Amino acid sequence: MAPAIGVEQARERINTALDAIDAAHDVLRETSSDLLGNGFRVDVAERLETQERANRGLMYRFFGEIADPPDESGTIAAMRSALWARLRITPNEITRRVTLAARIRPRRSLTGPPVAPELPALAAAVEAGAIGDEHIRAVCRAVDVLPASVSPTDVSAAERTLVDHATKVDAGVVVKLGQRIADYLNPDGLFSDEDRARRRGLYLGPQGPDDMSRLSGWLDPEARAYFEAIEAAVRPGRHRLDGQPEARDDRTPAQRRHDALKLGLQTAIASGGLGVHRGHPVTVVATTTLAELERAAHAAVDSSVPMPAPALTGGGSRLPMRDLIAMAATGIHYLAVFDDHTKRPLYLGRQKRVATADQRLICYARDRGCTRPHCLVPGYYCEVHHSPDFARGGRTDADKLFFGCGGDHGMATRGELRTQTTASGRLGWTDGAGPPQINHAHHPEELLRGDPDPPENEK
Ligand SMILES: [Zn+2]
Repeated sequence: MAPAIGVEQARERINTALDAIDAAHDVLRETSSDLLGNGFRVDVAERLETQERANRGLMYRFFGEIADPPDESGTIAAMRSALWARLRITPNEITRRVTLAARIRPRRSLTGPPVAPELPALAAAVEAGAIGDEHIRAVCRAVDVLPASVSPTDVSAAERTLVDHATKVDAGVVVKLGQRIADYLNPDGLFSDEDRARRRGLYLGPQGPDDMSRLSGWLDPEARAYFEAIEAAVRPGRHRLDGQPEARDDRTPAQRRHDALKLGLQTAIASGGLGVHRGHPVTVVATTTLAELERAAHAAVDSSVPMPAPALTGGGSRLPMRDLIAMAATGIHYLAVFDDHTKRPLYLGRQKRVATADQRLICYARDRGCTRPHCLVPGYYCEVHHSPDFARGGRTDADKLFFGCGGDHGMATRGELRTQTTASGRLGWTDGAGPPQINHAHHPEELLRGDPDPPENEK
């Protein structure tokens, strides 16, 4: 237990210690290591690795405290935003650190003294700086795959054993030990519904340069049953009764499974049974410009004309024009066409007229995603932000509506960040320290042109 000291004294002590580390780093950087010999260099490498782990342990302590402040300071959204802007780490990494920190910190109880952390052995090793991030990941994964039928006593014995090994061997060995312990504790491979529910998940990778995306993951038995039924339906001919010869099917099994998934999703969207999300019937939203659409129409009839740049979906992905035109023919999707120069909407296609949906379409085309600088959240996940703020007399004209993700919209509404419409019709954001800046992240063409913030055509 650290001795109780005053707030100012504690701040000063921490700052002084960090200054000393910075000063020591300067010394290390400035000292030549050309002639020290490899034996010494290995010693140095070991100490640097140990220091990095000690650093990491402190980092988790502060992330844990920031996420659940013992002194109740600050909101979650503001703290995530500050960490993202100042540490320059991804939102996923912030979530990972906060989640891990929560598992290795003493849990606060409302009534009594703090309860021990969920993973006490791991907590002690991280705090001591004895293990690195790969070890931490290996221990967590090994404990997490144990089925619910394994007793808490066996789970903590597994945790202690793995942490103990993590302080002596590399993370790859810890992974293998974890698998052996899991086999030993669950020799018959018994898993309950709860275990399956915990393991289910699909991972959709980023869209590659060829516009393809990698999908992988785990289906629960019910999802697999649906999948198999659709897969059987895309096999040709089996159910034909009209005496026509069966069409030859040259598809591989993998290609048929892909087409089965596509058919299932297409049918679900066409059914209209998915309801309404943020004012839009759930469907595909795509935006493009008139010039691109005309070029695509030429290319469709004249193969010597190259297909133009792809349309953009509300999920922030590229949709080749040929696919867009084929999908538009079924008439179930939202398509917004814009003038190239003025960016004003020329055509808003939709299945059913919904006023708020039209306003969102304009946001899709102009903003493409969240308008706060550097935020990557795509349109499908954005709320509509009124500038000036709706509560302060903002009107719902489309040119006063902009996309903002949940966190950023909240910060703007609470006044933690200010927004202002720029002369170019886009939304600028500022924390009050500088002029409002617009988000180029969804507009790579602007990034490449090196457009300044704010745009030059403004005063
Ligand atoms: Zn955002």
